[in-house]
Amino acid sequence: MKTWDVIVIGAGIIGLSLARELRKRGASVLVVERGEPGRQASHAAGGMLANCGDEIPSVLQPLANASAELYPEFVHELEDESGVHVDLRSYGTLLFAAPGHSVPEMPASNPVNVRELEPALAAEGRTAILLKERSVCPRALTEAALKAAKHRGVDVSSGTEVLSVEVAAGRASGVTTDKTFYPATKVVNCAGAWAGQIAPLAMPTRPIKGQMVCFAMPSRELLKHVVRAPEIYLIPRSDGRLLAGATVEDVGFDKRTVPETIQGLRRAALALLPALENARVLEDWAGLRPGTPDNLPILGTTPVPGYFVATGHFRDGILLAPATARVMALLIEGRTPECDLRPFSVERFGE
Ligand SMILES: Cc1cc2nc3c(=O)[nH]c(=O)nc-3n(C[C@H](O)[C@H](O)[C@H](O)COP(=O)(O)OP(=O)(O)OC[C@H]3O[C@@H](n4cnc5c(N)ncnc54)[C@H](O)[C@@H]3O)c2cc1C
Repeated sequence: MKTWDVIVIGAGIIGLSLARELRKRGASVLVVERGEPGRQASHAAGGMLANCGDEIPSVLQPLANASAELYPEFVHELEDESGVHVDLRSYGTLLFAAPGHSVPEMPASNPVNVRELEPALAAEGRTAILLKERSVCPRALTEAALKAAKHRGVDVSSGTEVLSVEVAAGRASGVTTDKTFYPATKVVNCAGAWAGQIAPLAMPTRPIKGQMVCFAMPSRELLKHVVRAPEIYLIPRSDGRLLAGATVEDVGFDKRTVPETIQGLRRAALALLPALENARVLEDWAGLRPGTPDNLPILGTTPVPGYFVATGHFRDGILLAPATARVMALLIEGRTPECDLRPFSVERFGE
């Protein structure tokens, strides 16, 4: 029977980035994915790499900054190994305050002339600051990560559900799936919002639904910057698509879109960017973010030796993928990551 050094459960951006990183460092790796790789939260994401605003919890800021810094190289390698262009954009983000409010004060960012930077925005009387943030197309990124992982020799078993992580002689020995048993001495749970459904440990993840709508911009030059306002965010892509989102809903494992909610997103997008009035709506969708009770990821070892976890990235899993892959690969190799992972331990929940 074939065995692997590491089994990664879940082929979202977190599992795929980690599998590739482990393989790059010499480990043999199997990714086991219940459905099609990259079709859950990582497919639904907007792709803002939002490490500069005031939204990242302070304890997560060092990992977020490290990940943002790793991004250009991460993308360069993925594009090179996969041949997939992931649309990394570096125009920056215009961060708006609510009408009548002032923008948060942030180091090295003064209010900018919105009319000059983005003439199509209807931002009369509103102030914004420009953040040096990037964006990426998460669908292309996930496809690139899958191809790059395979290119490096990672094995992938799709359409295979992991039911439990097996423990023998007090440590992880592999995974039991709906089809067979796969042996490995190390297992990592990267199953996103579903991480808590895999025995034996109850990871306290829960799905947080996000609905989004995607327009075809009348011209690719209509909007260059990502726009983040309290009521909506707008993410332009180089191919002329523009994403508007997203809701944050605690409604269980329900991925249906709600027409009135999508209409509400469309109205909010139009109010800020009136030129979208006659723009074609290409698509709408919903995805399930992996949430946790304190909105922080769960990263590190578990009480079962050889069993690791990397999930709960909530609203920032695309941003956090390269740094997560790096720190988790170091930990799995038995080395000490440069970033303190104690705040993200599963044991903080008393498991
Ligand atoms: C609407 C929306 C907008 C977002 N915008 C952004 C953004 O702008 N920037 C950002 O950084 N993040 C954003 N996010 C968050 C980001 O998408 C997630 O944090 C990230 O995709 C999580 O990746 P993951 O690999 O952990 O989860 P997923 O992509 O959900 O992958 C988990 C995988 O595990 C598989 N799986 C589950 N159970 C099993 C099992 N038992 N056996 C085998 N496989 C299993 C699933 O099928 C799935 O493929 C957004 C999310 C949503 C929904």
